[in-house]
Amino acid sequence: MPKLDQFVSQKLGELEQKQRYRVLKESLREQGVWVTRCGKKLLSFSCNDYLGLSQHSKVNAAAHRASGTNGVGAGASRLITGNHRFYTELEEKLAAMKGTEAALVFGSGYLANIGIIPALVKKGDLILADKLVHACLLDGATLSGATLKRFAHNNMVHVNQLLAKYRAQYRHCLILTDTVFSMDGDLAPIVELRELADEYDAWLLSDDAHGLGMLTRDESLPQAHLQMGTLSKAVGAYGGYVCASKKVIDYLVTSARSFVFSTALPPMIVAAALEALNVMEAECGLRERTLELARFFAQELNLPVPESAIVPLILGEEGKALNASKQLENLGFLVAAIRPPTVPVGTARLRFTFSALHEKQDVVRLIAAVRMLESLD
Ligand SMILES: *Cc1c(COP(=O)(O)O)cnc(C)c1O
Repeated sequence: MPKLDQFVSQKLGELEQKQRYRVLKESLREQGVWVTRCGKKLLSFSCNDYLGLSQHSKVNAAAHRASGTNGVGAGASRLITGNHRFYTELEEKLAAMKGTEAALVFGSGYLANIGIIPALVKKGDLILADKLVHACLLDGATLSGATLKRFAHNNMVHVNQLLAKYRAQYRHCLILTDTVFSMDGDLAPIVELRELADEYDAWLLSDDAHGLGMLTRDESLPQAHLQMGTLSKAVGAYGGYVCASKKVIDYLVTSARSFVFSTALPPMIVAAALEALNVMEAECGLRERTLELARFFAQELNLPVPESAIVPLILGEEGKALNASKQLENLGFLVAAIRPPTVPVGTARLRFTFSALHEKQDVVRLIAAVRMLESLD
């Protein structure tokens, strides 16, 4: 066997032993919340398309209109010739929604984080990140070369301690958090984090990937200095963004390498995202409907009251989560098992996500199926 294949075979063997080997399965999202996987039609509780906008007729029509006039690919990065006028409209809309002066759209949420963080901090600077932040914030932190320290999940006493102990030793300090934690569904205390950031002359970056469209913004409350997020979850399209002051956005345009050196999104995607934000505002009942389904599910199973459309059922070992997911699949449900390294060791889980396209009856059937799972405790 070639050396490279030998090397990866050994790596794959190790993953298999830990039950962390992952393979791709063809998954066709056709209508609503149904996914056909390996020829079997399953009711999905694993999509992040919380409002069903990825399939909304108006969003779809906007994408078709745009591809009709603009074709598919953008042709170049935004600084060269890829900066279609749809971008201006989308960025103005995002800034208005978040209450900031400006916004900048990136190729994806992942690209946004690995571009923004290294543009702002470097070696000699400090990054404090919640223990449960999304992997792409950590990748951005690693790329930046700044010193990274983690604080216990949502623990403001710990953040305060770290700032008191270390802040003075570093030039700049950036604090990273999710607004809605992607695998737990709980919320970060943004107001407290912002107060601490201001007190210690630090900057706060919040990742609102699972919040946009799902949380309502209280305009009287302070927000993070940098509010990033994705257009691929509740917005149902693709792309990432950051909302901040005009000065910060002007700087990121020339300094975020994942922005400068990557091709612009296809105009049809930008048009679709813009239309989805309009639909989101016009049909504000979708959000409440989704959250109501999540709350109903949790209540029936005696789980903590969810703060978002994400409800975890923590099972512990990898095998337990895989087994539970398989049992649900046999009953016609698609609920992905989430394992390390996506979540901390010993907290493998089922992660249920709800959508405005689910019927209450779907959730009733899911509850019955979860109650039937063997060896849950
Ligand atoms: C999904 C996700 C991202 C990445 O966004 P993409 O647009 O899918 O690259 C970033 N942060 C969080 C918290 C996420 O859940």
